[in-house]
Amino acid sequence: MANFSQVIAADDAAPFDFKNTYAGLPERFFVRLNPTPVRSPQLIRLNNGLAKHLGIDPNQLQTMQGVEILSGNRIPAGAEPLAMAYAGHQFGSWVPQLGDGRAILLGEVIGQDGVRRDIQLKGAGRTPFSRMGDGRAVLGPVLREYIVSEAMYSLGVPTTRALAAVTTGEKVMRERPFPGAIFARVAQSHVRVGTFQFFAARKDTEAVRFLADYVIARHFPDTESGSQPYLGLLRAVVSQQAKLVARWQLVGFIHGVMNTDNTSIVGETIDYGPCAFMDSYHPETVYSSIDQTGRYAYSNQPGIAYWNLGCFAQTLLPLFDKDVDMAVSQAEEIIGAYPSLFEKAYLSGLRSKIGLLKENEEDQELAQDLLDRMTKNEADYTLTFRRLCDLVGSRPEADEPVRSLFKNPADFDDWVLRWRKRVAKEEVNDVRRQEAMRGVNPAYIPRNHLVEEAINAAINEEDFSQFDKLITVLSSPYDDQPDFAKYAAPPRPDQVICATYCGT
Ligand code: AMP
Ligand code: MG
Repeated sequence: MANFSQVIAADDAAPFDFKNTYAGLPERFFVRLNPTPVRSPQLIRLNNGLAKHLGIDPNQLQTMQGVEILSGNRIPAGAEPLAMAYAGHQFGSWVPQLGDGRAILLGEVIGQDGVRRDIQLKGAGRTPFSRMGDGRAVLGPVLREYIVSEAMYSLGVPTTRALAAVTTGEKVMRERPFPGAIFARVAQSHVRVGTFQFFAARKDTEAVRFLADYVIARHFPDTESGSQPYLGLLRAVVSQQAKLVARWQLVGFIHGVMNTDNTSIVGETIDYGPCAFMDSYHPETVYSSIDQTGRYAYSNQPGIAYWNLGCFAQTLLPLFDKDVDMAVSQAEEIIGAYPSLFEKAYLSGLRSKIGLLKENEEDQELAQDLLDRMTKNEADYTLTFRRLCDLVGSRPEADEPVRSLFKNPADFDDWVLRWRKRVAKEEVNDVRRQEAMRGVNPAYIPRNHLVEEAINAAINEEDFSQFDKLITVLSSPYDDQPDFAKYAAPPRPDQVICATYCGT
């Protein structure tokens, strides 16, 4: 009897207090279905801090029932599982139906900060949107998404987050069989530009309006009260994207697949696939093995976001005005603000990266000059800026750690003279300047060779210790961690990773 009542108690105490507003939208927005159970789920890692922040008891998620929920084998009380419908432009080509082909939304929780977030299982089995896919995810990409999304969070870049990762005990066929895994993703929203496109392409203006009203009420309530809430929505989305992509550029992040279906409406980084951080700086860097033409190269990201926003604006036109020309001109005016919003955010970030606390007309040229010299000299992006922090208030004799990152160190010498002169124009305490610089120039990023090493150890030896260690180090990217100096170093030539592969 005692055992029986314990089981009931564990079952009754659902770890999630789900609210399901998306499931309340018209049925054509999604397909209701449960995840497909897996053979033998095992927890790889649970994000305790995030669970608590979401008001979820991490101890409950670590029990057998918890792991069954995280693998889709058990539907927790209150969940209304569904796969969302969406479309999108993939590498510029229109695909009228994509949708969650291997992800299932369990429900929404409201965190301690009062923010509503989705809990979604990625790799949870086939759905009506799976097309030729198997609905599953493999271990490598799941670990990559866990590491990189949590690193982005700690770097202060808006992002979806990792609640947990489990292995399924099943093999999943790709180039060869790989261990299967499921990723529990947390996002403020899983609505994408492609979600709007799905309905707009079907001329289902009623659905576009439902979706816009939903997104405004849930994510941009400030625009609700304005006289033109739909224009306000576009303005808000444009602003969030501009800020997001500026942050990517400033940390050297390359998303790799900036399709409109991978563009979150709230401006979070979403759908980590063949993404990577740059080691040595070069604007044309591309990592994704599927990006043959370099469409999503580092330097193209701001322009691609602009293009994606154009696609979004187009879906809203019927909501702006009955008069098409009028609607277009209203949209153009708002979208037209994107380049300057991006430039402003990016320049302000660059200025902080080189320790300038006041604005001066020549700052952009000064920063660009450094970037050009870094390109020519294959200087490590992250380390150049991090070590520059140490030069605040120092004499030229101390320049060596930065100079040595340049193939031709004299190229740095010329620049640093200019920089010292510019810095001297500001009467700012050195300690304060250095602290400010250290707060925006990370020492630690998820370097490709480290991510790869951690993934290989997990896949080949079932050794997750490197994965765990990497996550710990990356949780404090702006702190010096002398015990983990190796993690700050660029790859040796034999460790350089030139391509990353898709998450599918
Ligand atoms: P992604 O490249 O991950 O952004 O996915 C693009 C589209 O392909 C989305 O509709 C996904 O749901 C779908 N997809 C990706 N991988 C799989 C898979 N293994 N099984 C089914 N659908 C998938
Ligand atoms: Mg996607």
